[in-house]
Parts: sequence; C-alpha cells; structure tokens
Amino acid sequence: MFRTATEISGARFHRAEHVKNVLHVRKTTAISALVLSLCAATRGIFCTFSIEQASMPDTRNLFNKVWDLHTVQTLPGGQTQLFIGLHLIHEVTSPQAFEILRDRQLKVAFPERTIATVDHIVPTGNQARPFLDDLAEQMMSAIEQNCADFGVTLLDLKDDRQGIVHVVGPEQGLTQPGMTIVCGDSHTSTHGAFGSIAIGIGTSNVAEVLATQTMFLNRPKVRQVVVNGELAPGVYAKDVILYIIQKLGVQGGVGYAYEFAGSTFDAMSIEERMTVCNMSIEGGARCGYINPDQTTVDYLKGRPFSPKGADFDRAAAWWLSLASGDDAQFDDVVVFDAANIEPTVTWGITPAQSVGVSQPLPRISEVAPEEQTLIREALKFMGLEEGQPIKGTKIDVAFIGSCTNSRMSDLREAARIVEGHKVAPHVKAIVVPGSQLVRRQAMAEGLHLIFEAAGFEWRAAGCSMCLAMNPDKLQGREVCASSSNRNFKGRQGSPTGRTLLMSPAMVAAAAIEGHVADIREFAGAMV
Ligand code: SF4
Repeated sequence: MFRTATEISGARFHRAEHVKNVLHVRKTTAISALVLSLCAATRGIFCTFSIEQASMPDTRNLFNKVWDLHTVQTLPGGQTQLFIGLHLIHEVTSPQAFEILRDRQLKVAFPERTIATVDHIVPTGNQARPFLDDLAEQMMSAIEQNCADFGVTLLDLKDDRQGIVHVVGPEQGLTQPGMTIVCGDSHTSTHGAFGSIAIGIGTSNVAEVLATQTMFLNRPKVRQVVVNGELAPGVYAKDVILYIIQKLGVQGGVGYAYEFAGSTFDAMSIEERMTVCNMSIEGGARCGYINPDQTTVDYLKGRPFSPKGADFDRAAAWWLSLASGDDAQFDDVVVFDAANIEPTVTWGITPAQSVGVSQPLPRISEVAPEEQTLIREALKFMGLEEGQPIKGTKIDVAFIGSCTNSRMSDLREAARIVEGHKVAPHVKAIVVPGSQLVRRQAMAEGLHLIFEAAGFEWRAAGCSMCLAMNPDKLQGREVCASSSNRNFKGRQGSPTGRTLLMSPAMVAAAAIEGHVADIREFAGAMV
C-alpha cells in the first residue's frame, strides 16, 4: 500500500525543494506578508491590507479573487505556484509523503497550517488496538509517529474531535472563506461550501505541500451552475447535486471550477452546501464552491478555530467581500430550475447514471450512440433492465454515512423517517456519524435510540462503507442503498457489490421498505 520515496518522481521533488527556497525568499517580501495573511485566522492574525484591497470594485468571481490573492508566482508555462492556507491530512495518503520528507531531511514548512485526522481505515465497531487488520494498524501507527516527529496536530481516536477529514475541518472552524485548502482526498471539494478554493491532491503533492506550503496548479476556468427555486418536499441537497451531475455528466466539469449560485443554494444550510460541493468532483470539476453569506458567517461564529471578538467581525467583513458580484465574469453559465428536481437515485456505475425515483431507467435506443456501451455495461453489472422503474429495486444493505451525508442534519432527517418503523428483515442497516462530535450530539438528542429501535446498527465515526478500507464491506452481489458519493464497481468493498446513491432520507425509507422507495410516498415522511 505504501509507496516508497524512490517510487515517486525525483524530478518532482527537486522542484518541491526549489519551491521551498522560493518561498523562504518570499517570506521576507511584502508579497509574502499578504499571501501569508490570507488564511491567517487559524493563527490568530488578520490582515487589514486584504480587507482594503478586497473592497475595491472588482468584476472577478470569487474563485479568481482567491486564486490571485494566493499566487506566489506564475511560471513561464502558465502554471501558478499557489500558497496553501490549510493542509488537511489523513492516514492513507500521508505516510509516503512523510517518508519523502525524511529521505530529503526536510521539515514540514508550516505545521500550524497542517491538521491530521484518522478516518478511512478506522474500524467503526471494535476499535481496540492493535487493529485486527495489520495494514490498518500500520497506517495508524505511521500517522501517529509522523505527526509526533514533524510537530503536526493529530486528531486521533482518543481525541473527541476525530472524524472524517471533510467533516472535521468545517466543524472545527478550520475551513473558512477565502482560503486555499488541499487534502490528499478527492472530496476536499466539500470545503468549497464556505467560499474557499478546496482541491483534492495526489500523494506526491502531499509531500510537496508539507515541504513548501505551496503547490503548482493550472488555473481552471469557472462555470457558474445556477439553480433557482424552492426544493419540493422530499427533495434534498443530495438530489440537487445528483441532478446536476446527471445533466452535465461526469466529464462535464473537466477543466472547470464550479460556482454554485442561485436562490436554491442561497436557501441551503452550510451542511446542505457541503453535500453539494462534496460531489462537484464527481461531475469532473476541479472543485466547487458557494459564495460566503450570512449563513456562512453564522456557522463559523464560535467555532474553535474561528477568529474571536473583533477579529471575527473583521474576518466576516472580508469573507463577505470575496463573494462574486452581480457583474462577475464566468467562462460558462448553466441554469437549472429546482422545480424539475425530484428524489434522485443512481442506477448505474457512475454518479451521472441516475434517474428521478418516479422515472424509468433509460432505454438504450434512446440515448446517444457514444453512451450506449457504458449503459449496457452498467445495466449488466447492476443486474437491471433498460426501461424498468428504479422504485422497487430490492436492497440488501442500507448505509447512512460518508463525508457527503453524515452530519447532524442528515442524521436528524433520517431518524425522523425511521422513527416508529422497523428495518426490513433482509436488510442490514448501519448509521456511521461523520465525527465523534456528531456522534455525541446525535446521542444527546437520542437519535441513536431511534435508529437502534428500528434495527439500525449505531457505529463509531469514520469513512466506513463509503470506501470500505475497514471491516465495513459489501459481500458478493449485495445491493446497497447508500448516502455516500461514489457508485463505482467495487467501491464498497466487494468487486461485484452494487451501490445505489441517494439522500439519507431515501436510504432510511429503503431500509424500512427493503427496496428503493419514494420518500414522498413514505408514511409520515412528508408531515
Ligand atoms: S467518506 Fe468516503 S469520500 Fe469521504 S473522505 Fe472518507 S472515503 Fe473519501
């Protein structure tokens, strides 16, 4: 599992060392003073220059404002060296990176801008050490040692702030508007819900960022994805992003950052916005974001790493000033009507292969010729027929969790659906909170009792069955109704296991009915 330093391109790392030198030089310049201040709230500093500069008339969208403010230099080839405000790391994609630093005798450039947690391999049942899985134990031991050796804060299993990295960052107030945020995980896009540039990076980039707090990136174009209107009862943020991906395709966002705008997103809570931005990567976008507004400010107030007192007020003014104005320019704009979105379920092997729950699966003859091969492959793998309804598809497992849908609002809504009902006898159903704090809050509200009375298993925090790098795996051809974000072949631990993505409320209803159900028809759901 671990890659050694020699497996990773030496050339890339020589560049990283060069970058370190560049940054060291720039620390002494006025430019670096500005750049370093942009994400300074986590360090208790804030920069008046940023606020004054951001108040000038500006037709740039938020993405380009934040990108420009974090630019250390632009290379002759057009790549930008971007300063990274926050680097989130976890146990799976960091061991190799620390190994590289040791080999090169490098330090972590900004340990105070680097936060580690453990999530992917964490068992959500028996967490006694050593873990039963040798590889999981090896990864856990490695991150413990690495964080101790390099002075990085680790939120481990003994820390009640531990959880899925994309739940923990926002929960702690580490994620803030105007930041550049990276993590060795695709769903780093989640953090864009706050109006940050949040990008998933590869393992070798993790080493680069650890060593230099910068990385080289090509600036993507920006597409504004507008959804206007009120969501109908039973339609959630998950349905909105599944609908967008269905319409634009899994490759539709390649080369773009997505700005989600319009009255539908304006009305969403921050947790709902995180669900949307989380899956922007599934639509091919480099990242997704929503402009900061009063909802953002209210969420961040009082969080452990949020600025305090007058610093918070100054930060909030700056955050709001970053939002794309009415005259902001975009490379592309697409507009959808929320009235056309219904509870949505994936039926295939990509997140774009979805239908409204009342709709039939596509007929092969009715889709574009270039899509027919993939649709045939998906139908065969899933054991479904063209034109059949998705409603009524039998499930074996129900999973509520993942960085897409494991927060308090998700668990509250799912608990509301299941209360007073019983999980179908043939269904295994589990609820996995996104963090220890979510778990504790849910238990304080008695949600675990509701889930357990219905027949759900109530687990410890972690990624669980989203990726199945832990004991939570599908078996054989099982079909799972899942609130996670990927339905690729083998994603949930069995090469032949099948995943149907949907909202947590729809997973709850499917668990009770034993098959895909329309939440709008589920007893008591629409009160
Ligand atoms: S919950 Fe799933 S998508 Fe999210 S960080 Fe964990 S494995 Fe990745």
